[in-house]
Amino acid sequence: MPRDILIVGAGIAGLASAIAISDELSSFIPNLNISVYDGASESTTSGGAISLTPVAQRYLDELGILSELNQMGDRAGIEVDAIDLFSVRAGRRLGPLRFTDENGNGYGGYKGRRVLRSALSEAMLAVARNLPNVSVHYDMKLVGGSTTAENVSLQFEDGSTVTGDLVLGCDGVHSATRTKIVDPGNRSEYTGISFIQSMTDTRSLTTPMPFNQTAVHLARHSSLLTSYCDPKHEKLFVAAIVRVSELLIEKYQTMPGTDVSVQNNMRMSMRYLVRAQFGMSCLPYIREIIDRTENWMLYPVYQVRQRGKWHTDKILLLGDAAHAMPPRDESAAYAVEDAIIFAKLLAQNPDTPLPRLFEEYEDLRRGLVNKAFDASRRLWQSDLDKGLFPGQTRDLMSPVHLPPNSCVGKRATQPTTKTKLPAPTHESFSDLSVYSLTSDLGRTADATNGD
Ligand SMILES: Cc1cc2nc3c(=O)[nH]c(=O)nc-3n(C[C@H](O)[C@H](O)[C@H](O)COP(=O)(O)OP(=O)(O)OC[C@H]3O[C@@H](n4cnc5c(N)ncnc54)[C@H](O)[C@@H]3O)c2cc1C
Repeated sequence: MPRDILIVGAGIAGLASAIAISDELSSFIPNLNISVYDGASESTTSGGAISLTPVAQRYLDELGILSELNQMGDRAGIEVDAIDLFSVRAGRRLGPLRFTDENGNGYGGYKGRRVLRSALSEAMLAVARNLPNVSVHYDMKLVGGSTTAENVSLQFEDGSTVTGDLVLGCDGVHSATRTKIVDPGNRSEYTGISFIQSMTDTRSLTTPMPFNQTAVHLARHSSLLTSYCDPKHEKLFVAAIVRVSELLIEKYQTMPGTDVSVQNNMRMSMRYLVRAQFGMSCLPYIREIIDRTENWMLYPVYQVRQRGKWHTDKILLLGDAAHAMPPRDESAAYAVEDAIIFAKLLAQNPDTPLPRLFEEYEDLRRGLVNKAFDASRRLWQSDLDKGLFPGQTRDLMSPVHLPPNSCVGKRATQPTTKTKLPAPTHESFSDLSVYSLTSDLGRTADATNGD
C-alpha cells in the first residue's frame, strides 16, 4: 500500500484525488502523506465560470466540497433549475430545459450549478488543506520523472526532485506526466472549437433579460451562453462557442503575454469575432451585452487522443490528462469520478500491486470514457460537416456513466469491504448538451422566420 502519494496538478482531478484518498486511507494507513504539486502560482486561476451537472454536485458533496462552497456567500455560485433557449435570428424563446423534475426538485437531490472556477478551486483547496496528511505546493512545474523498482521520482522546473510510492498525473489536457513520462508523443489536439468568454457587470446593462439563471442563444454557426454566477445577479458570464481556426489559435498563443498593445489587439479581434456572430441579433439585450462586454478571452478546447496509455508501473493519469474529450461540460464530473473510484479501489485492495490495481481501474473506466468520447466526437463532427452545432439529441443526453456494480460507495473505511457506487442520479445535461439538443430547434425557428 503506497504511503507517499505524489499528485501532479491541483485542478479538479488532483484536489479531488487528494481529498478522496485521504478520506479513504487515513483511518488505516499511518504516516500517509499526500503531496500535490501545481505548476501555476497559487494566485493564478483560470477564468470564467464552470457549469456543474447534478452528478458533479453529488460527487463534490461526497467529498465535503459542496458544503465548503455553500459557505462562500456570493462566491458560492447559483443553482440552475433550467436553461432557457432562444433563437438569435428569430429573436424568440424556444423553451426551457430543466434540471429539475415536475415538482421543481433536483435530480437525486441536486440541480445544476454555475460557479466561478476560482471559487470552486478555493473551496477544493480549503477542504484539502484541512486534511492533516495533504499538502499543496504551487510554482512546481513538472518537467520529467523516472521510476525504479522501489519508488518513483518527479523532477520540477526549479531543479527540485521529490520521491514517492505512487504518482497520479492530474495535470490536465496538456499533461506533462502524460507527454513526458507515461505516453511520450501523445500530445493534445485542438478540437476546432473555442470559447470566447468574458464577465459583464449587469449593473451597467439597461435592457431587461428574459431568463432567470442561464440562457443559451442559438445562431446558425455558433451559440452564445449567458449565465448569472452570483445570487445577486450582478455578474454575468458570457461565452460565445465558436469555431476558430487553428492558425488563429497558434497566433494567439505565441503572442507575448506582457505586450499590452498586442494583448489589446487580440482582445479587439475576439470582440470582433463575437460581434460578427451575435451583434445583429433581434434580441436587444444580446446586442447590449455584446456591446458592453470587454476583455474577451479565447479558450480553445483541446482533446487527448483516445486509446493512449493511462499508466506505467507506478504512475496513473486521471481526469483530462487521461481523457480530455471534445467539448462536453460533464468533464469535471468525469474528473471527480475518476478520483473517487481510484481512491476507493486503492482502499479496498491494499495488497494488490499497483500495476494490477491500475489495470482494474482502467477496466472500470476505459469503456465508459470511450463511449462518452465517441458520442461527443460524433456529434461535433457531424456538426462540423453540416457547418452547425451538433444535431442529435440522444447521445449528449447520456448520463455520466458509472461502472455497473463496481467497487465503490460512500467513504469505505475498511479496506476489505466492497461497497457499490450509487446509481447515476440523472442525465447530466448541461450547457454543451443543450447546444446539441437544440440546434434543430434553432434551425426550425430560423426557417420559420425566412432567415
Ligand atoms: C473552455 C472550456 C470550458 C469548459 N466548461 C466546462 C463546464 O462548464 N463544465 C465541465 O464539467 N467541464 C468543462 N470543461 C472541462 C473541464 O474544465 C475539465 O474537464 C476539468 O477542468 C478537468 O480537470 P483536471 O483536473 O483533469 O484538469 P485541470 O482542471 O485542467 O487541472 C490541471 C492542473 O494541472 C496543473 N498543471 C498543468 N501542467 C502542469 C505541470 N507541468 N506541472 C504541474 N502542474 C501542472 C494546472 O496548473 C492545473 O491546475 C471546460 C473546458 C474548457 C476548455
